Amino acid sequence: MEGMFSDNDLSHVVEADKAHVWHHLSQHKPYETSDPRIIVEGKGMRVWDQNGKEFLDSVSGGVWTVNVGYGRESIANAVRDQLLKLNYFAGSAGSIPGSLFAEKLISKMPGLSRVYYLNTGSEANEKAFKMVRQIAHKKYGGKKHKILYRDRDYHGTTITCLSAGGQDERNVQYGPFTPGFVRVPHCLEYRKHEQDGAPEANYGEWAAEQIEQVILREGPDTVGALCLEPVTAGGGVIVPPEGYWQKVQDICDRYDILLHIDEVVCGVGRTGTWFGYQHYGLKPDMVTMAKGVASGYAAIACLVTTEEVFNHFKDDPTDKLNHFRDISTFGGCTSGPVAALENMRIIEDENLLANTDAMGARMMDNLHTLMDKHRVIGDVRGKGLFCGVELVSDRTTKDVVTEAHVAAVVAECGARGVIIGASNRSVPGKNNCLCFSPALISTADDIDQITDAVDGALTKVFG
Ligand code: PLP
Repeated sequence: MEGMFSDNDLSHVVEADKAHVWHHLSQHKPYETSDPRIIVEGKGMRVWDQNGKEFLDSVSGGVWTVNVGYGRESIANAVRDQLLKLNYFAGSAGSIPGSLFAEKLISKMPGLSRVYYLNTGSEANEKAFKMVRQIAHKKYGGKKHKILYRDRDYHGTTITCLSAGGQDERNVQYGPFTPGFVRVPHCLEYRKHEQDGAPEANYGEWAAEQIEQVILREGPDTVGALCLEPVTAGGGVIVPPEGYWQKVQDICDRYDILLHIDEVVCGVGRTGTWFGYQHYGLKPDMVTMAKGVASGYAAIACLVTTEEVFNHFKDDPTDKLNHFRDISTFGGCTSGPVAALENMRIIEDENLLANTDAMGARMMDNLHTLMDKHRVIGDVRGKGLFCGVELVSDRTTKDVVTEAHVAAVVAECGARGVIIGASNRSVPGKNNCLCFSPALISTADDIDQITDAVDGALTKVFG
């Protein structure tokens, strides 16, 4: 990719970026004096910056999105053909790609039957919350309106999604928040010593019981839904232990609480099954998904529900307020479901779920080997091609390393040609997890290249 831009073009792009682009999640003062990395091209697992430097991308576009890898001609062609045929019509009408993708998606989600089209994960979660509120009004006189969310989980960036946000660092200065959202404890076995009363054995069941305690305190007749990530992503790649999910399902069943699973990160293959909840035999009432649905080739998110949830909104022609009074303009873009359909075909035809399983196991093995070598690794966790490494300054106290240390490891991996991620541990100064979510097409060599870079970076930063 060397020489892709002339020096002239290059300096112009960088100038325009620095002068006019307000970057996501960025501190702009240091950015202004930095030498920014502008990613200009991608193919398979790799991307190139404006200087032609090649990187192996271990986080699928930075935020675990490009599940089938970059440069997929078949997706580009399907989107192009559809755009020329019909680019858009409002989602109150039907569309060929919308119907076909909904049918395909539902075939992978037994027990669920309705697909509501949107554009972002935040929007999908926000609409799910809206459904819960409307059901509360229609069925329970407004009483069963509270929505429970978990410490360390993240469900999006709007004020209402932040109201359901378990990562405090993201919430500071954005209140006041939407009322009616109630936090429940997390389920991170490695840090159970930070939770009063956590037992040595059966931690998963105990953690689920903490949710029940909150429900009993709030009053079960006031709680409408429980919203959870199957594997907590940005909060530190948290995979709950045995016993947790079964108990969560039992609690939802017992108290007639809707189970809303946020699959925005885990959805569409990331953990080695189509959806993360499918590892645990859960029966969700609502599932939201976004990132991997079309691997970033088009902006699409979906809120998928059971027929039972849908039936709450079935039109009673005598009551104009009875249906789900909601719209998303760009939920009618046909590029989304076309790209999503082709994305799913690729995952099936290339057997990428099995590959995710196999390569995820390899990555976990490699990371455990690194743990034997580097005392700074306190914990390794993951599911499929979604792994996290928690860095601690002391394995006994589990004190975390500094954010500066984490940033140095990320930068050193970048210098070695591998882009890795770091998670947010919610409390400022505790951003101590390295994150990996390479594309589902990863080969053994790719995985080894990623973990070799981490090995080198840890040696360089920590000795
Ligand atoms: N839910 C989870 C679990 C996420 O990780 C994210 C984003 O990272 C969202 C929801 C919000 O998605 P979006 O950024 O598309 O609004």
